[in-house]
Amino acid sequence: MRRDDADGTSPLSQPHCEIEKTPLEGECQRPGEVSYKGTLLVCRPHAALLQLEDRAQAVLGSVFQMDEWLEGNGSSGADEEYLGRIRHEREEALAALRHIRVQLRSARKEVLQ
Ligand SMILES: [Zn+2]
Repeated sequence: MRRDDADGTSPLSQPHCEIEKTPLEGECQRPGEVSYKGTLLVCRPHAALLQLEDRAQAVLGSVFQMDEWLEGNGSSGADEEYLGRIRHEREEALAALRHIRVQLRSARKEVLQ
């Protein structure tokens, strides 16, 4: 539900991608076109990659939380229906994660071009 990340294009000067300011990447020669979290100006391929990585992190975090919850409540006679729903949600999150991983792979390729 985050569609507001892709603004911040600047018609004035042409700054270049600031991806080297993140811990994960080196320098990038492409122009910075997209504002990322309001602090970095990055090129489109890097913006796509960062957004995917954020999403993967978020989904991974929710799977982790569900695992914690299931470990805490799975054997304590918690509402079966609720348990089932959490398990189902966990499955869906894992499926989403697999999908994101595929997208990440192609986003990484794009960045290297
Ligand atoms: Zn870049």
